[in-house]
Amino acid sequence: MQLLQATLILIVWSALVHFDPVMKKAFGDIPKIRGKILLNEEMAKHTSLKVGGPADVFAVAEDPRDVCTLVRWATTQSLPLLVIGAGTNLLVSEKGIRGLVIKLGSGFRNIHILSPANSDGAPGQTVTRHHQVIAGAAVQMPELVKAATDAGLSGLEGLAGIPGSVGGAVCMNAGTQFGEIKDILVSVRAVGPEGELIEVPAEELGLGYRSSEVSKKGLTILEATLALRLGDP
Ligand SMILES: Cc1cc2nc3c(=O)[nH]c(=O)nc-3n(C[C@H](O)[C@H](O)[C@H](O)COP(=O)(O)OP(=O)(O)OC[C@H]3O[C@@H](n4cnc5c(N)ncnc54)[C@H](O)[C@@H]3O)c2cc1C
Repeated sequence: MQLLQATLILIVWSALVHFDPVMKKAFGDIPKIRGKILLNEEMAKHTSLKVGGPADVFAVAEDPRDVCTLVRWATTQSLPLLVIGAGTNLLVSEKGIRGLVIKLGSGFRNIHILSPANSDGAPGQTVTRHHQVIAGAAVQMPELVKAATDAGLSGLEGLAGIPGSVGGAVCMNAGTQFGEIKDILVSVRAVGPEGELIEVPAEELGLGYRSSEVSKKGLTILEATLALRLGDP
């Protein structure tokens, strides 16, 4: 009986949180997405330091359309937008985050390893054979390093041991003294600031030392294409 009561209280409470009229007034009609939308979600649950107050609106996107919808909504409502990965490089204050936070869900955790494509070489030149690896932005870097190693692909060794997601790694140009993601990044698929799907070559991301222009350009990275070599990882 007590368990039933507790369950009912929890259901009523979560319904109130989801349909809080004050929040609805503040943010207009919150869009429907395939993923989920939470109000006043504690950021401490999403940062590796386990600190950070509530985000006004916290969305877990499950497909590119979700991201487009959310970005367009933030733009039309003039809401500040923050995209997060695994939260290993985030320090969020106890006051939390005003506006919309987007986190990419399990729909962005696929890794595809494509057959090698010959790069064009002039007669007599060595032709380099690269395997293209397409990784969803929510794939964790250690998972990606393991998948590449298992496939006998080389190029990610310098990123072994770095925590966080592929999206975060691109945004931070993550790396070590043995290499950084810039060395192997070909392009990203992203949602632009107006909610449009775009493909951006690595050269246009302004990748520098542990930095990029990803946030400045208002990009939400959905997946990254990397060029790896067959070799001894
Ligand atoms: C113990 C420890 C060791 C570390 N060692 C290293 C190291 O050796 N080398 C190194 O480079 N870093 C290191 N870091 C820092 C951190 O792991 C990296 O910066 C990592 O790449 C951040 O990824 P994340 O998914 O956690 O991103 P988050 O911390 O969630 O976000 C970081 C930035 O990326 C942006 N971002 C995240 N995902 C997306 C997306 N999909 N689209 C657009 N923007 C996005 C966020 O807005 C934010 O600006 C370390 C951190 C810890 C805690």
